[in-house]
Amino acid sequence: MSFATVDPTTGRTLRTFPPHTPDEVEARLRRAEETFRTFRHTPLAERAGWMKRAGELLETEADAYGRMMTQEMGKPLEAARAEARKCATACHYYARNAERFLADEPVDTAPDQSFVRYQPLGPVLAIMPWNFPFWQVVRFAAPALMAGNVGLLKHAHNVPQCALALEELFLRAGFPQGVFQTLLVDVAGVRRLIEDPRIRAVTLTGSEGAGRDVGQRAGGQLKKVVLELGGSDPFVVLPGADLDAAVETAVKARLINNGQSCIAAKRFIATEPIYEEFERRFLERMRRAVVGDPLEAKTEVGPLALESIRDGLHQQVERSVAAGAKLLLGGLKPSGPGFWYPPTVLAQPPPGSPAYMEEMFGPVAVLFRAKDARDALRIANDSPYGLGASVWTRDEAEQRFFIDGLEAGTVAVNGMVASDPRLPFGGVKASGHGRELARHGLLEFLNIKTVRIS
Ligand code: NAP
Repeated sequence: MSFATVDPTTGRTLRTFPPHTPDEVEARLRRAEETFRTFRHTPLAERAGWMKRAGELLETEADAYGRMMTQEMGKPLEAARAEARKCATACHYYARNAERFLADEPVDTAPDQSFVRYQPLGPVLAIMPWNFPFWQVVRFAAPALMAGNVGLLKHAHNVPQCALALEELFLRAGFPQGVFQTLLVDVAGVRRLIEDPRIRAVTLTGSEGAGRDVGQRAGGQLKKVVLELGGSDPFVVLPGADLDAAVETAVKARLINNGQSCIAAKRFIATEPIYEEFERRFLERMRRAVVGDPLEAKTEVGPLALESIRDGLHQQVERSVAAGAKLLLGGLKPSGPGFWYPPTVLAQPPPGSPAYMEEMFGPVAVLFRAKDARDALRIANDSPYGLGASVWTRDEAEQRFFIDGLEAGTVAVNGMVASDPRLPFGGVKASGHGRELARHGLLEFLNIKTVRIS
């Protein structure tokens, strides 16, 4: 197993990194366990100072961190810089709020005196994907470290520079050695870690397949697990919606991160009276999307991160067309170097086909024509996934109908699904379970201790 930076625009290997040896992994595990014993007792104000400093470093070095992300996984540079700055907001949010979130909670059980105390669990293993190589990690680490846990990161094999930079970031911010460590290990190595009694809990952001595997293994060890998995988010447009804003947001929501976002809108559902108009405008805007070098400011869509992701996506498109989906745009795999794929639009895929049932992790949009609002909700929920959902209508009764009926962890009305440190984030169904961000995310890796004094 090699950890390598491969330029997705050319497919050339730029740097390789040797994996950690079993002895190195053991030393890091031991250090995590030892560090936890003292770190859990550090005053919250001290942890908050370090976390604030981490946020400042992310802000001031957003350009360098952004270039690293773009080089390793191909997202447009401005989006990568914005990712570093967003990480800073999460650090500041938890630095400001953790003390309040973690305070003892009195409960009236008179004449006894009772309260709830929140205590950290210990070393938490974080298995993370490459698509938001800084954000996915920081949204785990900021609350976990503020709560007094220590973190061990197994990052995706194609972002080793980001993985190592994140370990260094927390050290430079002032956190003691051993509070946040990166492990360059492969999937077999992760499995051993999940079984190691020193690891107290596991969080995974990744695909459904990895989620099933990690969930089963962690469950077998009776370890708490948070799973943030794939999504095939619906984007529902109803008559009376602001169509200009809906189309502009739809295209942005599909192409963000070169189409490789769990909460990207992937299935676009418009009802009969506006379907044709929506399809026409959406296609026209997708056709104009600027594909190119992610370092150039005008680029909207760069290459996909991995050859396997690009080839898997193309197969999904081909199988969907063979099953009867209409191909309205794109769909041709470019020859030549790099992992490029054109913005692609499919329409009316038959139930059961990949475009209907599977997550399409790249710039491929799938359009659906619905009879009415009820039919749109049926199509939206006819998916194994339930991460986010967006609905566009000005009608308040329709808004309530979709807020209540959508099977999703997040519903955005007249807007785009996006994560925000102040709001809980997570999914239902095959999109996983547990929550990140807000107070809910911080509580996931805590012992919620009940104390009753008689
Ligand atoms: P992935 O293949 O599942 O990999 C994610 C991480 O899990 C990597 O570190 C990978 O290591 C590791 N991994 C893979 N299989 C594993 C296993 N059986 N046991 C333990 N670890 C395993 O996912 P990806 O293709 O990198 O990322 C894309 C997926 O992540 C999409 O499905 C996307 O929707 C999802 N995602 C979800 C969220 C969310 O918040 N819900 C956010 C972002 C992405 P290696 O790299 O070494 O294989």
